[in-house]
Amino acid sequence: MTRNKKPQVEIDAAKHHAALARAEGGPQYEYDPTLTAKGCYRFGVRTMSGLFICYACKHRNDGIPRVWTSGAVCTELYLSKDNTYRVVFNAQRCRECENFGRFKVQEKKYVDRVLDIFALWTGQREAHESTGPHKSTGPHDSDRCYGCYKGICPWSDDDEDDSNDKKKSKKTRRRRRR
Ligand SMILES: [Zn+2]
Ligand SMILES: [Zn+2]
Repeated sequence: MTRNKKPQVEIDAAKHHAALARAEGGPQYEYDPTLTAKGCYRFGVRTMSGLFICYACKHRNDGIPRVWTSGAVCTELYLSKDNTYRVVFNAQRCRECENFGRFKVQEKKYVDRVLDIFALWTGQREAHESTGPHKSTGPHDSDRCYGCYKGICPWSDDDEDDSNDKKKSKKTRRRRRR
């Protein structure tokens, strides 16, 4: 088991490629863990759903790791002209202990979503009716999201959210670094 290793803040999705390649429309894509935004055909940041497990909280919780689900895991997608691609998830920190949790994606949902995005990017399907930024329901804890920390999280891009501090200039908010 890998649970003694420190959770990563940027999780490469290479291990989910096998599932993607098996799915309908998937075999045309090949995984390339070295792809970067520079020189790749399409790059985008979307949200995915999955869950985080905090083993650091185990000792204070009767030996049970803390688990939370998120419908807004900040996820980077890269696609090259040769149909090689790369996906990177950004981790979230635990509310109780501020350590990053270990990420588990819902693989079926992940595969469907990635293939759907790539089909749009490669012109294999039309855009859906609502083409605005993807919206998830529920709160997003920006202070504990590594994508928000990097300033790339699609969540902080949400123009229609008029709650709390969103009325302030978002541009300056997003440039702010800790
Ligand atoms: Zn914790
Ligand atoms: Zn975020």
